[in-house]
Amino acid sequence: MNDDQPVDDQPIEAPIGGDGARHRVVIIGSGFGGLTAARQLAKADVDVTVIARTTHHLFQPLLYQVATGLISEGQIAPALRVVLRKQGNTTVVLGEVETIDLQRRSVTSRLLERVTETPFDSLIVAAGADQSYFGNDQFAEYAPGLKTIDDALELRGRILGAFEQAELSDDPDERARLLTFVVVGAGATGVEMAGQIAEMATKTLRGSFRNIDPTESRVILLDAAPAVLPPYGGKLSRRAAKRLAKNGVEIQLGAMVVDMDYHGLVVKDQDGTTRRIESQCKVWSAGVAASPLGRQLAEQSGVELDRAGRVKVGGDLTVTGHPNVFVVGDLMAVDGVPGMAQGAIQGAKYATAAIRAGLRGADPASRKPFSYWDKGSMATIARFSAVAKIPIPGTSRSIEFSGFVAWLGWLFLHLLYLVGFRNRFTTLVDWFFAFTSRSRTQLAITEQQVFARNAIGVLDSLGRPREGSQPDESAPRLEERQSA
Ligand SMILES: Cc1cc2nc3c(=O)[nH]c(=O)nc-3n(C[C@H](O)[C@H](O)[C@H](O)COP(=O)(O)OP(=O)(O)OC[C@H]3O[C@@H](n4cnc5c(N)ncnc54)[C@H](O)[C@@H]3O)c2cc1C
Repeated sequence: MNDDQPVDDQPIEAPIGGDGARHRVVIIGSGFGGLTAARQLAKADVDVTVIARTTHHLFQPLLYQVATGLISEGQIAPALRVVLRKQGNTTVVLGEVETIDLQRRSVTSRLLERVTETPFDSLIVAAGADQSYFGNDQFAEYAPGLKTIDDALELRGRILGAFEQAELSDDPDERARLLTFVVVGAGATGVEMAGQIAEMATKTLRGSFRNIDPTESRVILLDAAPAVLPPYGGKLSRRAAKRLAKNGVEIQLGAMVVDMDYHGLVVKDQDGTTRRIESQCKVWSAGVAASPLGRQLAEQSGVELDRAGRVKVGGDLTVTGHPNVFVVGDLMAVDGVPGMAQGAIQGAKYATAAIRAGLRGADPASRKPFSYWDKGSMATIARFSAVAKIPIPGTSRSIEFSGFVAWLGWLFLHLLYLVGFRNRFTTLVDWFFAFTSRSRTQLAITEQQVFARNAIGVLDSLGRPREGSQPDESAPRLEERQSA
């Protein structure tokens, strides 16, 4: 975009990477869905505009490794416009989409004070999902989720910062609180985070402090559900729990978080009793809420949303009455399609194939419904240990395995889906050293990583109050935390 373009709230038209006369496809989002859709249209006779609020594509499955210092953020977040630079028909527009206007066929996005309006002939909405705190948005201040690079770096800062503060404390209660890490949500992300915090404490940081013994840290993984990794179920869930326990992770199931503050959290057990856990460093990986853009689509088209705010698209992944508006990935609600990378990738491929068919004159009414191929799921528990569940096509059965072989499979698949040869290579090298020794190369933290979210929150509370977010009087002031 040009610097001499008008700013303020006067929309400017987005640059289109062609002569403006071709079919215009606008893609919202640069995650698995958005990037796949853009790439699929590389050779199509269309002008593609990808609008994304981050400058990078993000490989979310490895965020937990950034948070725990195994790899760097650049390895999982390549710059989107560099990835797409050879794709002449594609333009990248940085900005947060604020409005989708189905009637006018345009999308309005904002970058700081600059408002951009991008017209479309076909639209692919791949805006994903954010963390859900189940109506307790105030928990976000005390227990960041793990959805973005900012989240991962902040968590890294909070985890390492807790050890540093414990080293300086001579109060045993305070030390215990600082060395208690709680991960809320025992799905794949929670299991991976808890496992890595435990490994960091018992292996990487062992012997690095003089006044505390990091190996005495408590890592608690808690969930309201009765099992870890509920989608895997049965044998695999039990194996994962056993392996986590062996690595020193304390698992508390049937435990629902009902309150939280800077110093700890309150948990309600299945028998209805409540108890408090003193813990400064908490991680939230318990739920997802679809992008609010889904609600806009629902209000304008009458399409329904599910409880998580996902759009109940038709069989061809479009919204009611708009065969040119596709919703893919974590924002779409389709029976049997989980909120996983494959759902987004396959949905994006389907949508772009439908657009190309339309260019050849195919009638949208003749589209075959989207069919999802479940390629299975995997989660790592610890170094050399993972669980995997691969459905057998055409049956309701699955192949289930765990341990070293599952871990090798996990390693291979994650490398395969990372974007860029160099990222794959450097990640492989980092993994080699991390898994064969105690080392982690990415243990740097900065003050901004630890305090930026709270500082922004303070600014918000001065000028732009956020709903449901009240300042916590029990929490140390920002300046007190900085001097801690
Ligand atoms: C920590 C973590 C671990 C995971 N592990 C696995 C795993 O092991 N295996 C697996 O298959 N899946 C995993 N997933 C799920 C997987 O990452 C998602 O299913 C997948 O990313 C969904 O793709 P998407 O394109 O729909 O959304 P996303 O990848 O979330 O992309 C959404 C994009 O939209 C952009 N966006 C959102 N709102 C706006 C807006 N208003 N304006 C502009 N841009 C916007 C975002 O910035 C982002 O670029 C994991 C997810 C997380 C968070």
